[in-house]
Amino acid sequence: MAIESFNPYTGRVLRRFKPHTPAQVERMVAQADKAFREWRRTSFQERSRVLHRAAALLRERQHELARLMTLEMGKPIKDGRGEVEKCALTCDFYAEHAEHMLADQVIETKARRSFIAHEPLGVVLAVMPWNFPFWQAIRFAAPALMAGNVGLLKHASNVPQCALALETIFHDAGLPRAAFRTLLLESKDVEKLIEDDRVQAVTLTGSEGAGSHVGAAAGRNIKKTVLELGGSDAFIVLADADLELAAKTAAQARMINAGQSCIAAKRFIVEKPVAKEFISQMKTHLLAMRGGDPMDEGTQYGPLARPDLADELTKQVQDSIKLGAKVELYGGQSEPGSARFAPMMLSNLKPGMPAYDEELFGPVASILIARDEQHAIELANDSRFGLGGAVWTRDEKRGERVARQVESGAVFVNALVASSPEMPFGGIKKSGYGRELSHLGIREFVNQKSIWIG
Ligand code: NDP
Repeated sequence: MAIESFNPYTGRVLRRFKPHTPAQVERMVAQADKAFREWRRTSFQERSRVLHRAAALLRERQHELARLMTLEMGKPIKDGRGEVEKCALTCDFYAEHAEHMLADQVIETKARRSFIAHEPLGVVLAVMPWNFPFWQAIRFAAPALMAGNVGLLKHASNVPQCALALETIFHDAGLPRAAFRTLLLESKDVEKLIEDDRVQAVTLTGSEGAGSHVGAAAGRNIKKTVLELGGSDAFIVLADADLELAAKTAAQARMINAGQSCIAAKRFIVEKPVAKEFISQMKTHLLAMRGGDPMDEGTQYGPLARPDLADELTKQVQDSIKLGAKVELYGGQSEPGSARFAPMMLSNLKPGMPAYDEELFGPVASILIARDEQHAIELANDSRFGLGGAVWTRDEKRGERVARQVESGAVFVNALVASSPEMPFGGIKKSGYGRELSHLGIREFVNQKSIWIG
């Protein structure tokens, strides 16, 4: 894919970027490797100062950064400001807690003293997607830098200005320049980088296909990976749920980032007695949402990030309809080749239909009707993915019981699924492996070294 800023709402190319040359990439890798040797020796206090400064700069530049996201991938401007604030919070969070999270862990053994020390690995390559251009990258960078690693960011080709703005923030915050670089690189050149001995580990957020390529290349080169891939998460509504709140949250959950979020609820599994009412209420909420110009403060959902993503979603919807899916709410792509897409709801879904089997990365809700609780769990688990499910019931114990049976990296009971710095985030099955955020996230890219003193 060409590296360019393309405004999906206006359909205009804003700026084209030349990829870095092999010589430039070589220089950045060599400098990152060298920077690691110094950065790893800095104290947690020094690293904290940089991360707190980065948080302050994110807040200072909040509007400008949100505007870049709106321009490059169509995110409503006010959501962009929210994303930047979350990035700042996460930088502050790791600045405050990393030292404690990576403290030596004493283990009682026959030794006089034995413990686990947590040491940084080195240069970590991050291959990141466009849907949350700052958040996805910060989720990797804040813990990695606090652990003493350095980072190379290969961002998605449609958000180069966001990627460069993030690099500038870290540099302005006082991070050594070579310790965090944005590489303007096409995806075909990522493998060469993974083969480079100076790159110690790779983290990728994106599609199953990209995850599988990067994971395979890392495997061939014996490198640690974290993969955070797609989802087709279940939003289970049991008959005893607070239906009004569930339907309102369902619409919100499906429409996060115009439906382009890995943890957006995608399959709404509703117990039969309340299905009709739930569909009707969710439809009302979806229709009430304001789509339009993402620069407009009142806009609740903008276009999809690229026209080809809307074309692909349209194909998944049409293929499902051809196979018998029923349209509960008409919407869809405004015209072929456009990124604008109005919310839709589909029901009468069966295995073999894209709307049942695949991730729908846009504002299309798949409705499935369950006979009872057990059937709802079976439907939820009848998926290749498992990232962030939800259960709605007025009975908390029941909610917990169902949550434990849903095959997923996280399950939220009576709440909107969202990531937060304190809690681990990641999937099972084809949603990937490894965890980001929390103390588990920061330990993914450290050498958990056993030290035995006899
Ligand atoms: P991709 O997975 O293709 O892109 C994500 C990142 O991976 C980008 O930086 C991309 O670079 C890079 N990449 C892609 N292929 C390779 C490869 N073979 N080797 C190395 N790096 C690679 O996502 P798309 O933009 O194509 O979106 C397609 C679908 O992916 C969506 O419809 C959705 O299902 C899923 N997705 C999931 C996300 C999530 O949050 N889990 C986020 C984004 C997408 P480049 O941009 O240069 O191709």
